Parts: sequence; C-alpha cells; structure tokens
Amino acid sequence: MIKVRNLSKFYGEKLAIDRLNFELKEGEIVGLLGLNGAGKTTTIRILTGYLMATDGLCELNGLNTFEHPLDVKKKIGYLPETPPLYPELTVIEYLTFAARIKQISEEDLSSELNRVLGLTDLNQVKEKVIETLSLGFRKRVGIAQAILGNPEIIIMDEPISGLDPKQIVEIRNLIHGLKEKHTILLSSHILPEVYKTCNRFLFLHKGRLVYQCDRQELEREMENLSGLEVTLSGKSRSETEIYLNGIASKSGATLKFVGEDSVGSTFLVNTSSERKFKEELYSGISSSGILPEFIRKQDVTLEQIFMNKV
Ligand code: ATP
Repeated sequence: MIKVRNLSKFYGEKLAIDRLNFELKEGEIVGLLGLNGAGKTTTIRILTGYLMATDGLCELNGLNTFEHPLDVKKKIGYLPETPPLYPELTVIEYLTFAARIKQISEEDLSSELNRVLGLTDLNQVKEKVIETLSLGFRKRVGIAQAILGNPEIIIMDEPISGLDPKQIVEIRNLIHGLKEKHTILLSSHILPEVYKTCNRFLFLHKGRLVYQCDRQELEREMENLSGLEVTLSGKSRSETEIYLNGIASKSGATLKFVGEDSVGSTFLVNTSSERKFKEELYSGISSSGILPEFIRKQDVTLEQIFMNKV
C-alpha cells in the first residue's frame, strides 16, 4: 500500500533521514519507533505529502506521492503531533469545518460527522469548546479529524505522547477499533506504549532504519533484553550484593547495583531464566536474614533495542 525507497531528507546541511526503505501492507498497523530527533516526524510529513524529500521514492498504491500530493492527501488521514485544532470552536464546529475542507459533500456531512463522533466516542462532548477539553479528548478530536472521509491509511505522529495511563488505554482501544478498516502507521518514542498496539515495528535511529520486525520477533527480543529489578533489605548493601552474586552465579544471571534507599538495596538482574533465578533466591533467603521487598519486571527501552542493533 505504501512503498518507500531510498528516502532521504536534508535540512540544509543536516541529514534528517538517510535512505529509508520500508513498506506498509493493507490492514497492517505499524509502529515507527525512535528517540527524539530520530527522524519520525520528517518521515511522516513526507509520507503525508506535507514535505518534499531530498531524494528517493514514496508511493501510495503505485501513485508517486511527490507528483500527486493532493490525491495522496485524500487517501491519508493525518494526525500531527500537535493537532491543528481551533481551541475557540466547539468539537462539532471544528469537525464540520474540517469535513468541508476535505470536500465531504453537504449531503453526506451529517452522517459522516455522526460516524466519526461515534467511533471516537466524542458525542458526549461535541458541543463543548475544544480549549476546555483534556489532552486525551483533544487527541480524540484530532483522530476524528484524521478519519473524516474514511481514508484508507491513517498516519499518526505520537498519538499517545503526553497522555496519562488511563487516556493511553482509551486511545489504544480507539486505535484498535480503527485497525479493522484502515492501514495505520503511528510513531512513538516509548516502546512499551506502542508495543501492545502494533503488529509490525520500524526502528529509526539517527535517521536510519536500523531494524524492522513483526510482533513475535519483538516479543522474543524483549524477553531476551528484559531484566528484573530486585530490592532487598535486612542486610548492608555489600552483604546483600555478596548474597545475590551467589544466587546469580548458580542461575546464570548477571547483576548490576542500581541504588540504595530507606527501603533497601536495588539491583538489576539479567537472566535467561527468570524462574530459575527466583527459585534460587527464595530457596535460601529465609536463613540469610535478607528480606525481599520488591521484584518487578523492568520494561525494555528503545535504547536497549538500539544498543543491540546499531
Ligand atoms: P521528535 O520526537 O523530537 O519530534 P523526530 O524523531 O520526529 O523527533 P524529526 O523532528 O524528524 O525527529 O527531526 C529529525 C532531525 O532533523 C533532528 O535532528 C531535528 O533537529 C532535525 N530537524 C527537524 N526539522 C528541522 C528543520 N525544519 N530544520 C532543521 N533541522 C530540522
């Protein structure tokens, strides 16, 4: 559906994206992941026809996006990182305005507005002025604007950044609902947030596509990289470290001291068998005088993936 070949963009002397190659197939939901400055927004602006590339090719269903930017814009719904909302308008006024810009006919206008208000669950706030809405609701208004006219492809730049955990779940559910009918590309700099949403992942680092994989492969990768954060109390840091080193050597784990506070000493444990490590830890702990305070799985970060792939 979208084909990108050797796509590069210079801003003056600055190379923002460097010979990118990837594809999006119909019905996929793809995460474009990268740290700040990786080139995600630049890539998205080029795909959506808002920015010219310096070099390379970008096609939408065989249509060259640089030669046919207006046709491309009709087929893509775009949610920029900061949606261009008019804060003084009500939700319905803004969406009516956006629908007219997208040339949705007066005949279809009201049914289309009802459709997107329903999909984004905005009916309850449709008469409210946008500036009075929470960030989560404003993102939904941006998504409603993006899906007006039922475009084949939806591209969202950081749709969940800045949201609280409850809002993240709501927007994630909304995106899940959209994937039945649309091909979706969304960008993010936070791996755990998009991990559950997408079925394929593109990893962008300093303008280069350093890794791409499907969900199963990423799951394996994350399993290998994820660690356990272990907080123990009852003994000094050095005694705890000696004890934990003994456990680690028996279970093939490696250990890193993280810090010490009023609760206890915290270590990061990397192991290929969490179960074995936990069994060893618990089997000897009652006679050691050491108390387990917390054992929690650590989220894998983008930085860990890049360190492994670059
Ligand atoms: P963020 O999440 O911080 O927005 P990003 O992954 O979206 O990051 P881009 O905004 O695409 O990254 O930026 C890629 C690189 O290009 C960065 O080094 C950035 O400083 C640079 N850049 C972006 N826009 C411009 C511009 N208009 N002029 C010059 N350099 C730019």
